[in-house]
Amino acid sequence: MNPEFWFTEKYSETCGFTFKVKEVLQTKTSKFQRLDILDTYDFGRVMLLDGLVMLTEKDEFVYHEMITNVPLFAHPNPKDVLVIGGGDGGTVRELSKHTYLNSITEVEIDDIVVKGAKEFMMFVGCGYDNKKVNLIIGDGIEFVKDKKSAYDVIIVDSTDPFGPAEGLFSGEFYSNVKNALRENGFVVAQAENPYYDTKWMMRSVNNMRKAFENSVECYLAYIPTYPSGMWNFAIGYKGVKPSKSFDSGRYNKLGLKLKYYNEKIHRACFALPEFVKELLDKNV
Ligand code: SAM
Repeated sequence: MNPEFWFTEKYSETCGFTFKVKEVLQTKTSKFQRLDILDTYDFGRVMLLDGLVMLTEKDEFVYHEMITNVPLFAHPNPKDVLVIGGGDGGTVRELSKHTYLNSITEVEIDDIVVKGAKEFMMFVGCGYDNKKVNLIIGDGIEFVKDKKSAYDVIIVDSTDPFGPAEGLFSGEFYSNVKNALRENGFVVAQAENPYYDTKWMMRSVNNMRKAFENSVECYLAYIPTYPSGMWNFAIGYKGVKPSKSFDSGRYNKLGLKLKYYNEKIHRACFALPEFVKELLDKNV
């Protein structure tokens, strides 16, 4: 009889998130990180990087719809989009639904993530089937350094601020991102959660605020398999405020069949609880 295998992601030294694993489908190590792909009873297929849940088959739609559609429908006329990270393919899958885009470029540092998603998680790996997606294996921090007014939207779909992703949360990186954006451009970044290790959320938002001269808003989405379930995104803008802008004409014309995002969510997700506002106003 097989012994039971339970996986725990530690949220702190004293608490974590535990689920039972059916099967380990792949384990690989690159010079950047360790990748595990699991099959589970409750969440379907699950991708871990260095023991942290990146996505699950059950709730990845929330994260990927929210990191893409909020900046795209807030922008008056997006044409060229850059994704940094996002090697599982979920973000480019959502971008591919925006058929009016001219180009979708993704810079992912680690090809084991892309290969793993294509082999075991085609529900996100299918993002690479779109011919418009130009995948570059490289460091996103270096990639943006010399780019000037090249993109309308930049999406930072990164791991947590450790190892190769640490610099993706820095002020210098956000300044380079600002230069890489055109007029009316947006950068959106996954920006951690307001319950565990809150300094990461506070620091990344503060660094973005410095680079964008305070033109930054935050929005929340509810993702059960991420620490605390409440996930924060930070969006820096060079033109209109994303909370006040929604292109209903383009939204209705596209007629997307989505599972989380809609016009009311676009407007409501910028409403922040008092304790979150308080944390975000602290300078760390
Ligand atoms: N949704 C996920 C989350 O928040 O848990 C993030 C998913 S995606 C798998 C994150 C990707 O960022 C990883 O594949 C990782 O290799 C990539 N990454 C980390 N640092 C990077 C860098 N400096 N340049 C490009 N990609 C990077």
